[in-house]
Parts: sequence; C-alpha cells; structure tokens
Amino acid sequence: RAKELGGNRYEVADPDADARAITRHSLTNRLPGALERGEFFVEYQPLIGLSDGVVHGAEALVRWGHPVHGVIGPDRFIPLAENTGQIVPLGRWVLEQAVRQAEVWQRNHHGARPPRVNVNLSPIQLHHPDLVAEVSRVLDDSGLAPEALCLEVTESALIGADQDALKPLRRIADLGVEIALDDFGTGYSNLSSLRWLPVSVLKLDRAFSRGMSHHPADPVDLKIVEGIVSLAHGLGLSVTVEGVETSAQADYLRDLGCDTGQGWYYGRPAPPEQMGTLLLADAS
Ligand code: C2E
Ligand code: MG
Ligand code: MG
Ligand code: MG
Repeated sequence: RAKELGGNRYEVADPDADARAITRHSLTNRLPGALERGEFFVEYQPLIGLSDGVVHGAEALVRWGHPVHGVIGPDRFIPLAENTGQIVPLGRWVLEQAVRQAEVWQRNHHGARPPRVNVNLSPIQLHHPDLVAEVSRVLDDSGLAPEALCLEVTESALIGADQDALKPLRRIADLGVEIALDDFGTGYSNLSSLRWLPVSVLKLDRAFSRGMSHHPADPVDLKIVEGIVSLAHGLGLSVTVEGVETSAQADYLRDLGCDTGQGWYYGRPAPPEQMGTLLLADAS
C-alpha cells in the first residue's frame, strides 16, 4: 500500500497493530467452547429515572473472562462471535442470565417500580428463525413479565430492513416485550421509519451528551437533543440517554425532558449484587 502511494513515503511498523492482530487471532481460536467452559459473565449497569433518581432497571453487558488476556470487552469479541455464528448461543445465554436475574431482583425488591432488564440483540440473532420462540420460552421459564424485558437493537440493524425482516421483532413486541433502538443518532437515521418500527424506546448515543458534560453546554447539542426528545415523545416513545458521566449532563438531559439516564455518573457496569444493593437503597 505504501509503495502504491509512490514518492518517498514508507510504512511505519505499528507494534500496537501487530499486538492487536495477535490477540484477535488468539481470541478467535479460543472463542469456540468459551461458553461451555463458563468464561463469559454478565455485568449490569443501572438505568435511572432522570426526574426522580429512581432505579428503573439495568442493561446486561456481557464480558469474557479470558484466562490469558484478562477481561475482554464485548466490542472486541461480539464481532468475532457474529462472524462464526456463535453469537446465537452466546446471545441466548445472556438473555437467560439477564431474565433470571431480573426475576430475582423483582422477588427481593418491593420498591415503587419492579426493576426491568435490557438485553442487547445482535442483527444475526434478529434473523435467526428461533428468536421469537426463544424469547417466549426464556420468559415462561423464569416467570418474568414480558413488560420487564427490553431488547435493544441498533438502528443500523433495522434501517433498511423490510417488513418481513421486522416480523419477528413485531411478534416479540406483541408479547409485551419493549424494543429499544440502541445507539440512536449515530447512523443515517431515517426519522420517518420511527412511524412503523416496533420500538418504544430511543436510546440516544453518548455522542449527544458529550457537549453537556460541563456548564455551559454546547448550544447546538442542546437544540439537537431537544428536537429528538420532542419527536420521540410526539410519537409516544420514551428517551434513554447513554454516557451520563457528570452531574451537569444529568441536569441538562433532565431539563431537556429525557426520561432515563445511563452512565458512569450513576454507576459503571458491575456484578449483579451491586444492582441488588442499589435497589434495596431505593426501596428504603
Ligand atoms: P451499548 O449497548 O451501546 O452499551 C453501552 C456501552 O457504553 C457499554 O460498553 C457501557 O459500558 C458503556 N458505557 C456506559 N456508561 C458509559 C459512560 O458514562 N461513559 C462511557 N464512555 N461509556 C459508558 P460495553 O460494555 O463495552 O459494551 C459495548 C457494546 O457491546 C454495547 O454497546 C453493545 O452494543 C455490545 N454488547 C454488550 N453486551 C452484549 C450482548 O450481550 N449481546 C450483544 N449482541 N451485544 C452486546
Ligand atoms: Mg445497548
Ligand atoms: Mg447503546
Ligand atoms: Mg453506544
């Protein structure tokens, strides 16, 4: 590539890139069987009502406890699992864990609102023929009410999907499960598609809250979020914002009418016991 460009350009060796490639290779090799070996675990990050500070629930986020490389984040292995199809059993396992966990929280917590759980769905799972059956089986097995589960699907997975591709999602929504559009606003959002997508929650990507981390906030970011909130509420959708890291962000986003916040300001992803503690504090 460097040669092609001609002139006296030369390629600089990137040791980081080499290290990354080696790790990717070893992750790919170890991925088959990692589920059976019990190497994955799920952390939960609280979702907080911006106006009342009440814990609404948590998002389940999968991690890989790799015996050599330590804890690996999902951005590094979900794409690999998607390439090999292993995302299907892995995603099913995360769903089972999360739904069981939410049922335990509900049993032990009697606060204002029964806590809910959000689970990310890969586009590959969305196109898997067993998805609807799996979701209803997992709910039946646990006894969790469908309304307490929210499946997060990225905008890019849905934009451009035809009506047939949306059928499973619509059937899941008909069960009473909530569907959230994750990372909203990062792609080429087709706003008119919100009319017919079976979603009830918009999750604004943290890019939107970035300009509000300190006073005064970026006036353009304020206007954009104000517009999205008004559109979402006009269509009967609720708005969750990712990446709330400071009290300034929490204040701005609440004043703009966002419903729910998620981010380090409220809590990092953590083992399920930590959520239990938060929920107990809420109830008292
Ligand atoms: P996501 O669904 O958009 O999840 C939010 C990500 O933002 C999480 O990264 C979370 O740890 C991070 N985050 C939360 N609060 C803050 C904050 O205040 N500041 C910053 N800078 N980051 C924050 P994580 O856990 O690394 O997950 C990355 C992505 O991996 C997720 O993005 C989701 O798309 C995917 N993912 C995670 N678990 C699963 C899963 O079980 N199945 C599938 N298919 N994808 C998953
Ligand atoms: Mg998500
Ligand atoms: Mg997200
Ligand atoms: Mg995101």
